[in-house]
Amino acid sequence: MWSWIFPKRCPVCKIFIKDEDDLCLSCEQNWPRLKSACCTLCLFPFKNNDEPHLCGDCLTYESAFEEVKALGLYTGDLKNLILKFKFQKEESLALFFAKLFSQFQNQYDLIIPVPLHFKKLRQRGYNQSALIAKNLSKQWQIDWDPFC
Ligand SMILES: [Zn+2]
Ligand SMILES: [Zn+2]
Repeated sequence: MWSWIFPKRCPVCKIFIKDEDDLCLSCEQNWPRLKSACCTLCLFPFKNNDEPHLCGDCLTYESAFEEVKALGLYTGDLKNLILKFKFQKEESLALFFAKLFSQFQNQYDLIIPVPLHFKKLRQRGYNQSALIAKNLSKQWQIDWDPFC
C-alpha cells in the first residue's frame, strides 16, 4: 500500500521504478562497477587487467582489516550519491546503500560504523555510516553498535 501512495523512485535520476528494483535500468547499466582486476584485500583498482593480487600497499603494510566490500568505484553516479548522502542527509539513501550492502554474504557478528570525528559530527549533525549500519542491521538482523 505504501508503494502505491509513495511510489519508489530511482535514487539517481528520480524516475519511478518497481519496488523490487534498486535503480532504473539505465542507471543500473551506468553503475560504476568494480573491474575484475583489483587488489584482493583492499579492492584498489589496477590499470592493467591483471590477475587479482595484492597491491603494493597491502604487500608492504600490515592491514587493519581482513576484507573489503565495495558497491563500486568512487566515480559517476555512485560518487554523486555518496556526496549527496554525506552532505545533504538524504535519508532514503541510507536504506538504498544498506540494501546494496545486504546483497553481500552476512558472515558477521556485529556491525560497527566508521566513527566520525566529533567536530564533523557536530557540524553535519549525523554520521552517515551509522545510518547505513542501522539499516543494514535490520536487513541482516544482527546487532550494530556505534560505540565500540
Ligand atoms: Zn535512474
Ligand atoms: Zn590493496
